[in-house]
Amino acid sequence: MEDFLVNLPDFGNADLRLFAAALHASSNGVVITDHNQPDEPIIYCNNAFENLTGYTKKEIIGHNCRFLQSEDRNQKSRNLLGAAIKNGEHCTVLLRNYKKDGRMVWNELMISPIKNPQGNVTHFIGIQNDVTKRVNAENELVEEREILDEQVRERTHNLEESESYLSAIVETIRESLIVLDSELRILSANENFCSFFRERYQDIIGEHLFKIGNGQWDIPELRQLLLNILPHNNPFEGFEMENEFASIGRKMLILNARQMTLKGKYQDRILLAIEDITERKAIEHRKEDFINIASHEMKTPLTSIKGNFQLLEKIAKRNNDTTYLKGFATAGKSIGRLERLIHDLLDVARMQSGKIQFNFEPFSLRKLIEDAVIVLEQSSPEHKISITGIDDITVEGDFGRLEQVMINLLSNAVKYSPIEKGINIHLSMLSGYCKVSVTDSGVGIHKRDHKRIFERFYRADEISERFPGVGVGLYVCSQIIKEHSGTLWVESEEEKGSVFSFTIPLKQK
Ligand code: ADP
Repeated sequence: MEDFLVNLPDFGNADLRLFAAALHASSNGVVITDHNQPDEPIIYCNNAFENLTGYTKKEIIGHNCRFLQSEDRNQKSRNLLGAAIKNGEHCTVLLRNYKKDGRMVWNELMISPIKNPQGNVTHFIGIQNDVTKRVNAENELVEEREILDEQVRERTHNLEESESYLSAIVETIRESLIVLDSELRILSANENFCSFFRERYQDIIGEHLFKIGNGQWDIPELRQLLLNILPHNNPFEGFEMENEFASIGRKMLILNARQMTLKGKYQDRILLAIEDITERKAIEHRKEDFINIASHEMKTPLTSIKGNFQLLEKIAKRNNDTTYLKGFATAGKSIGRLERLIHDLLDVARMQSGKIQFNFEPFSLRKLIEDAVIVLEQSSPEHKISITGIDDITVEGDFGRLEQVMINLLSNAVKYSPIEKGINIHLSMLSGYCKVSVTDSGVGIHKRDHKRIFERFYRADEISERFPGVGVGLYVCSQIIKEHSGTLWVESEEEKGSVFSFTIPLKQK
């Protein structure tokens, strides 16, 4: 007879012994306790139970199962187990069991009562499974979920923080801001937009931009610009519009708009920033009017001063009156400078109103340059001006106006080079165009000012106190070159001198 059969309790029936043999071979740990003896002692366990617990049959027969929980007795599932045994019921619990070597295993224990024909519980059969791996995996999952939840909470918190940070900025800036969807419906608007245009937030959200305020925004050019943004990622900047707004009257606005991005990805949204420049424009107009009137008023007396002055200079020369001649020379230079300034200021006004006339005719570029150099050499003999590049070329243009450009560029080169006195003019020809570059070794220009110095009245901060000037010369030059279908630009670094270059086509259309 097989050894395990010897160890089986005798159920007194051959069939039963076969069932018992199957039980013995089961891979689940099986234990049977005697319910009618005190303290529910173990009367049977199979091999799998021995493997599961590390205890041998000999060691456990007659013991209550509680030794499996070692010192860890305060487990809630033990109460469930106790109650089920007491009530003679079936139950399944998860327990922390301890192997003989002290290692903890998660034990999924299922107990069933065995009843006699009278319905009284005689035994309990317990089937156990080591589910440590599963429970650990479940615990890890729970832990991971907790970590994930924590991360989500943290991110949400960060997001809320950056949102309130952003909205604080959006609400603080003085510009009006609105966000539009691809259909140009308003998704959000800042407080400034609502207060400036006297709109109620709830009335405009979801509305089409061109429908709000009696269609006051429906301007064909603006419509075109806005509709172009999303399909081609085509932002616009500095769009000026003057409009009559029912609630706030006539306003001059400047608009910038761009497609919004999130983490470098484009969104189907447009951010439109609107700045009110009505006041600024009015001040600019007043300033221009004043300069215009003042220059006109100065021009007549200056012409008379210059005429009389030239007369006196002639007399002094005739009489060889050396005492006055030096003084006349200095005063003559100042009159020349003043004359050029008034000329430039009047030109600014004329250019603004488009009243300037250009007479295009062919002329020698070399002659233009040499004439301008003569003017400069008379007023600043200490500067040495060299001419390099091609000998000569015939160009079509307004000689007087281009000479004005040359004199302006050379005067600047002189003015802004107080120490290094060498100035070079380089002439070149590029397919169909001529190029003139004026190089000095003076104070140079910071990169951030390279574009702005061509604006009216703009002067670089660093030099404005050290050198006299009003900031219109380059504006006039750039307008003249533009009228000749050319370009004027600068290459420069602070303290490293500057190169001002312009190109114009050899023939004007
Ligand atoms: P102004 O010389 O009267 O200020 P311009 O329009 O001629 O006016 O020049 C505008 C500004 O450009 C100047 O104020 C100066 O900052 C800068 N600039 C022009 N030419 C030079 C130059 N050759 N070197 C350094 N800065 C220059």
